[in-house]
Amino acid sequence: MSAYSVQAQNLSKSFTQGDSTISVLKDLSVNIGYGEVVAILGPSGSGKSTLLNILGLLSESDTGSYILNGQNTAELSAVQRAQLRLHRIGFIFQAFHLIDHKSVRKNVELPLEYMGLSRAEKTRRVDAILQRLGLTHRAEASIKTLSGGEKQRVAIARAFIAEPTLLLCDEPTGSLDEELTQEVINLLREFTGQQQSTIVVTHDPVVAAQCDRVLRMHEGRLAEDYYTERAGQQVSSTVAKKVHVEEAPTDQIPLREILAAAYSMPMPYGRVENYQVAHTDTRVVQQHAVQNLPSTPWWRVSLSEAWDATVHRVRRNLFTMLGVILGIASLVLTVGLTATISGQLAESFDVFRARHLVMTDTRKEAPTRSQLLELSRSEGYERVHQLNGVTGVALLNQLSEGSDIQNGPDNFGERSVNVTASVLGATPNVFEVEGHTLTYGRGFDEGHVERGDKVVVVSESVAKKLGIPREEGINVYIQGDMFRVIGIVQENPSIALSYGAVYIPLGVKPSTMDGNSSGAKHTQIVITTQAGAANQVAEEAPYALSPEKPSRYTVGVPPEPKTLREAVDTQQRTMLIAMSVITLIIGAMGIMNTFLVAVIERRREVGLRLALGMRPAGILVQIAAETLLTSIMGTIFGIVVAINGISIVSLMNHWTPIISTETIASGFIAGAVVGLLAGIYPALRAARIDPATTLAAG
Ligand code: ADP
Ligand code: MG
Repeated sequence: MSAYSVQAQNLSKSFTQGDSTISVLKDLSVNIGYGEVVAILGPSGSGKSTLLNILGLLSESDTGSYILNGQNTAELSAVQRAQLRLHRIGFIFQAFHLIDHKSVRKNVELPLEYMGLSRAEKTRRVDAILQRLGLTHRAEASIKTLSGGEKQRVAIARAFIAEPTLLLCDEPTGSLDEELTQEVINLLREFTGQQQSTIVVTHDPVVAAQCDRVLRMHEGRLAEDYYTERAGQQVSSTVAKKVHVEEAPTDQIPLREILAAAYSMPMPYGRVENYQVAHTDTRVVQQHAVQNLPSTPWWRVSLSEAWDATVHRVRRNLFTMLGVILGIASLVLTVGLTATISGQLAESFDVFRARHLVMTDTRKEAPTRSQLLELSRSEGYERVHQLNGVTGVALLNQLSEGSDIQNGPDNFGERSVNVTASVLGATPNVFEVEGHTLTYGRGFDEGHVERGDKVVVVSESVAKKLGIPREEGINVYIQGDMFRVIGIVQENPSIALSYGAVYIPLGVKPSTMDGNSSGAKHTQIVITTQAGAANQVAEEAPYALSPEKPSRYTVGVPPEPKTLREAVDTQQRTMLIAMSVITLIIGAMGIMNTFLVAVIERRREVGLRLALGMRPAGILVQIAAETLLTSIMGTIFGIVVAINGISIVSLMNHWTPIISTETIASGFIAGAVVGLLAGIYPALRAARIDPATTLAAG
């Protein structure tokens, strides 16, 4: 067994602050043997923490050499240094540096997590150490509920869980009372076996007295270095022998007296002169060599830690997310509404027209009454009904384009008024099919058609001109023949042809009309279809109606429906999208800012993770992943808001909402891009954090 775990020679370190350079360590050399518990005393600012950070591979000395477990650390890469921190070095700090959102168990488990051990192995080891420290009952407790002593015990458990060879404690009892201090020192002694070395920076002479060896630092140098009485019990004799008593320099604090008084223990002055001892046991070097350490699944751990942190910070991150929520919501809303609007027909006029077909009989001679009735009951007519997409079929027979309509002097009106209107014979369902609305009375029925009743339904405009009252028993004269008014209808304005018409049962005609025909000029079959089916139906209908002679009918194909796409100005759309992009950018800056603040706020946590052995790249991945996850969560909220928005706007406008995969995908892509962009800078900042400066007690 090599005698020394730590062999440091001629270490010096200086810091530049502005113009001045402070030399913090000055040519300091020290060897520390396995099994030793070493106290470092010294006034504040004498370089204790700086030394500890160099020994813990958290920072590098400017000059000198440092051999850890027989391995020259100068040859190590940053990743290898992280590996050694994870497997070989444990840290305990005055400020505990526990991760608040994790339970006791999860805090202790973290180094094992970084090592990538199996769940069973992690649980086994954590259970064992918690039991040893009397923390079993607090295993699932939140860190916030722990007392100071419990927190330090958790930190000790975490430092020991990886079974390090070098334990570095920076004022571990600085914020504990006497009793807890004793407990901590007992634990440190208990855990320091023959394979380990422990270094305790302390101001407490009582603590120092219970260590094997005391180093006193003064202005970056070792002012004193001697073994205490305890050394005899703990330290191998080869090391202990190298102590020889000498007079203390007069300008130094008489530590011996303080220690002796505090612990009523004889304290020999001792100076250790063992720097030249550098014999190395090859077996130990092999055993501890960084090359033999298992590789860590660092990026996987980083991702799971990112998930953990994000989930535990959802509420805290809600405001951060708000920017993304608003940005994504407005972007998706714009894209979605544009799609929705584009899909809508410009006006109800077009809506109706697009679903409305008219088949006209091309024959010159007008059909007789019986021919008309036959047609309306024919198989062909029924087949048109059956066509896919057909919602209604009516037969319409224009008797005249301008017949004389007169109110009767016998039943209403002071004087007779003449109106010219087109007269339409029709099947009873004409009002429904053409979309007219009865405002008074009723339409005619099959009975009226059957019997050839002289009843009429007049349009509002005709009724108004004639002054027809809304009461029963009113007659009008159509070309001099008397018809009973049974209803008044508000015509569908989309059907120009029928504007201001009067409707009588199919096959009926005023007796004054010429000829034995029905008097029909145009026989038309009016078809309404489902949206989008009109063109298909237009092709099929003549064949359905008259398979032998489909050419007898011409079909008026509805005009290509105008959509609202044209109504929404391209410029307006561009404006809307530009505005959402701006909102998104603001959202991204918000996220970036919050994460920058969070990184500064969490620099101790980041420092701790680095100290525990996470490599800087792992920190980068974790912070970037946290930002991305936060952004994605905001994106999901934003998309939900947008979908609701699109639905509400559509509902109010009687539109069919169109929420396509593309719309949603555009939101997710934007959210991911925002998250990644916003995350890069904070993640880089986090990865560059210097753990040495963030973990110091003050
Ligand atoms: P101690 O732990 O003994 O109190 P430190 O090792 O923490 O002392 O610090 C020694 C000196 O080095 C102090 O004056 C401190 O201000 C300075 N120092 C430590 N770290 C840095 C740093 N990263 N940058 C600049 N100065 C530093
Ligand atoms: Mg310090």
